[in-house]
Amino acid sequence: MKRIVVLGGGISGYGSAILAKKQGFEVFLSDAGRIAERFRRELDRWEVPYEEGGHTEARILAAGEVVKSPGIPETAPIVQLIRAREIPVISEIEFAGRYLGGARTVCVTGSNGKTTTTSLIYKILRDAGMNVALGGNIGESFAYSVATGQFDWYVLELSSFQLDGMYRFRADVAVLMNITPDHLDRYDHSFERYADAKMRITHNQRARDCFIYSADDEVIRREIGRRDLRMRQLPFAARTAIASGAGDAFLDGDGLFTAAVGRSSVEIDTARMRIKGLHNAYNAMAASLAALAVGVEPEQIARSVYDFAPVAHRLEPAGELDGAEWINDSKATNVDSVWYALESMRKPVVWIAGGTDKGNDYAPLLDFAREKVHTLVCMGVDNRKLVAAFSGVVPHVIATGSLEEALEAARAAARPGDAVLLSPACASFDLFKNYENRGDLFKQWVADHAK
Ligand code: ADP
Repeated sequence: MKRIVVLGGGISGYGSAILAKKQGFEVFLSDAGRIAERFRRELDRWEVPYEEGGHTEARILAAGEVVKSPGIPETAPIVQLIRAREIPVISEIEFAGRYLGGARTVCVTGSNGKTTTTSLIYKILRDAGMNVALGGNIGESFAYSVATGQFDWYVLELSSFQLDGMYRFRADVAVLMNITPDHLDRYDHSFERYADAKMRITHNQRARDCFIYSADDEVIRREIGRRDLRMRQLPFAARTAIASGAGDAFLDGDGLFTAAVGRSSVEIDTARMRIKGLHNAYNAMAASLAALAVGVEPEQIARSVYDFAPVAHRLEPAGELDGAEWINDSKATNVDSVWYALESMRKPVVWIAGGTDKGNDYAPLLDFAREKVHTLVCMGVDNRKLVAAFSGVVPHVIATGSLEEALEAARAAARPGDAVLLSPACASFDLFKNYENRGDLFKQWVADHAK
């Protein structure tokens, strides 16, 4: 019997271990850190042996194949040992993809917009009455859904790390939102390698499969030009007039877009959507194309798109204080996502930013900052880079070292009719557990003070 070792005991790892068990493999799960109580209970219930707080090399190197969780970098010593022994290393997606039976997949990747677009596609398919599961980076893992459910469609959010370990997996519908610098620390600081990883979403696609992508994204256009791609291509755009025989979507100057695939088409007025801003128009165009490609009726697509509310921590309304609107965009952990957040602002902005800088270049934000932001509140252990980048651009720049201090400063600076926007451009690990924790504390503070 083939022995499967699963590295990492988080949401992706425990799902893979349970699927391996269910498929009759001898399986062992190993995590160098602690495994959450909930996952340990599940592993016990499924009788999967595991270890935490270290790796037993002998047991791991006896594997016929290793399923590596996306959070574990290639440079981890245990991964290097496995590589040296030439034991195949695959991702959860590759592993679970083997047991799909006749089920089909819509896979979404990109630097930004993945969760929003994935959730919207899932909603459209579910509202249309389809038997569909949501997975990848959201909710339960893909592997867990495959192990425990029977679905016709899977809508999956895929990070570049999951795409890295993917070899034979094939997406029926692949969606690529954009490619902008992020996570370069995991790709030898090479943008080229990161772009390559994102393009893996098209791997193995056949002529009748669909590839939905942003035609406004120059990097994607360049990557497509360098490849011989045979699948049906469905571009979406607001700037680049690009028509494709298979279908496309285009946003006009009045905020209307039409998405068409084959003979079906849907028209959407973005002003009527509950998710705002140009970036969300892109997300809705991509989702509409995906739903048309899957075969959902146009009227059904329009209804679901208009009904879709922002996902938590993504430009999520957090309430009103002294006449100012507070907005939680804690998920904006890179410069590009903040660009879109500022783009969507229609009121004067008090902007709260900062945290762990990932080597950010703030230059793309200067124009919007100058035009829309009157106060920047920096919230981090080390604010020097932000202060230097925006002093002289934004009239008031305030450095603070805690959430409480930052929100007090923002409240004092905000006037009735302003928007107070938490959109950090940075990771959260200096002051918070993660971006959810940062966003939740922000919302809680607003709720407490609104009383
Ligand atoms: P991801 O899952 O890729 O991180 P999300 O949907 O969670 O994407 O959105 C993350 C952040 O990126 C949000 O805070 C939002 O402001 C911004 N964003 C959402 N969609 C896009 C897009 N299509 N292009 C650029 N930025 C976006």
